[in-house]
Amino acid sequence: MENFDVVVVGAGPGGYVAAIRCAQLGMKTALVERYKTLGGTCLNVGCIPSKALLDSSEHYHQAVHTFDQHGIELGSKPKVNLGQMIKRKNEVVDQTTKGIEYLMKKNKITVIHGHGTFTSNTTLHVASEQGDTAIASKNFIIATGSKPASLPFITIDKKRVITSTEALHMTEVPKHLVVIGGGVIGLELGSVYARLGSKVSVVEYMDGIIPTMDKTMGKELQKSLSNIGFEFYLSHKVKEVTSKGKGVVVKADNAKGEEVVLEGDYCLVSVGRKPYTENLGLETAGVQVDERGRVLTNGHLQTTAANIYAIGDVVKGAMLAHKAEEEGTYVAELIAGQKPHINYNLIPGVVYTWPEVASVGFTEEQLKADGKAYKVGSFPFKASGRARASMDTEGVIKVLADQQTDEILGVHMIGPRAADMIAEAVVAMEFRASAEDIARISHAHPTFTESFREAALDATAKRAIHI
Ligand code: FAD
Ligand code: NAD
Repeated sequence: MENFDVVVVGAGPGGYVAAIRCAQLGMKTALVERYKTLGGTCLNVGCIPSKALLDSSEHYHQAVHTFDQHGIELGSKPKVNLGQMIKRKNEVVDQTTKGIEYLMKKNKITVIHGHGTFTSNTTLHVASEQGDTAIASKNFIIATGSKPASLPFITIDKKRVITSTEALHMTEVPKHLVVIGGGVIGLELGSVYARLGSKVSVVEYMDGIIPTMDKTMGKELQKSLSNIGFEFYLSHKVKEVTSKGKGVVVKADNAKGEEVVLEGDYCLVSVGRKPYTENLGLETAGVQVDERGRVLTNGHLQTTAANIYAIGDVVKGAMLAHKAEEEGTYVAELIAGQKPHINYNLIPGVVYTWPEVASVGFTEEQLKADGKAYKVGSFPFKASGRARASMDTEGVIKVLADQQTDEILGVHMIGPRAADMIAEAVVAMEFRASAEDIARISHAHPTFTESFREAALDATAKRAIHI
């Protein structure tokens, strides 16, 4: 039986980053992955393919709706070639997953394809079509990720009642896509099809979309998405989903208890994801899970078996690729005897709709609930010259700062390129900057980032220049 210093189970962004960092630190490392390609949910059926389709659909949407105002005449109305769009997306996924294979070779990591099951806390059985193997290791890192969650009364037939995975491989543009859950997946994939011409109805249990983010973001995003053909059914409790032939019927009760019936041709179920630990042999290894099926870890991502760690979607916390990556690096450095640290409060969250939503730190609702004295500054993109030039004037940046010290406590933005712009706020907050610090830093003109400076000026002393 081959012996390793570290075996990582699962090759998503948590697992492959952990493996690279372990190898960089001189450990003999193996990576076990049950699928043929590396990269996990994120690269195969998550972040990367969804962003590829979001980019393609946004190009189409712009061509149909704004090119004429830019003075570009296409002659005839552009047509969607969904097959080509999906093919390009598949090529992007292929290139990206192959890139991970290259990185494994470069770092001399042993990659074993097959499903891993613990046979003790130091041994793993790997089952594959090519035959089974057993490996031993001093340490293990569980990075087995998550799968789509559903509701008890829903049957996901993967044809008409689908999850994000099927929504990334559609063969036609839905006429009416009913989305259950107004969170990140529902709004991103809903956006893809709304831009391509679908009517999209979102049924959400809470009274606002993206309910875990700052409330202003959800309200602004709802306005923008309504403009591209979304309809929202908020405070609606779904109670039945049936699929027959080419149709789906979704029944929900509204806040007054009245029944609302939605008929569509596809129903996307996007009510969250659940940790994946099937047939992993956790009990045999002495690894416990919590009440929600997540691998139980202490403050150092160590499981109830001291030499086994767990990271990413399979443990508590935000189900985000960059959170999984941080944890992968953290555990590798911890095993190597270093003293790493993760600031969970400063892991940004992004929704890749258009406008994009991006957020870091505390929301205004959290500050209120904590009884914290804070100041608010904001700046609308309609007052930005750069945004007018590109016709991206929807949205606002909101900066929350400590009332006494002026330290930035939270930044929430909805607008053009917010996904990239949030990085400045993360850096600022890592260095515990005040709103005035940002206000005194030169920002190139004309850029979208000037709006962050203006919002910081507004927060620090109500002295924004351009509003
Ligand atoms: P995963 O990526 O889920 O990888 C786990 C891997 O473990 C899988 O490859 C699985 O096959 C393997 N595995 C499981 N069990 C075993 C076993 N017993 N033996 C061997 N292998 C096993 N996050 C973002 O930050 N930004 C985004 O834009 C974003 N977009 C997303 C879009 C969609 C549609 C979805 C579904 C998710 C998106 N996410 C995004 C979330 C992101 O994909 C996850 O947070 C991330 O993939 C978690 O990484 P992970 O390494 O923990 O697990
Ligand atoms: P989510 O948690 O973002 O949203 C689920 C939504 O469904 C919530 O708004 C919730 O209130 C609603 N909901 C739950 N039960 C419901 C019910 N019975 N009826 C109606 N609505 C209900 O989950 P998701 O959108 O499925 O995404 C799963 C995970 O993937 C998320 O944790 C997210 O972090 C990650 N992800 C991230 C990105 C990104 O970073 N851009 C993109 C896609 C997915």
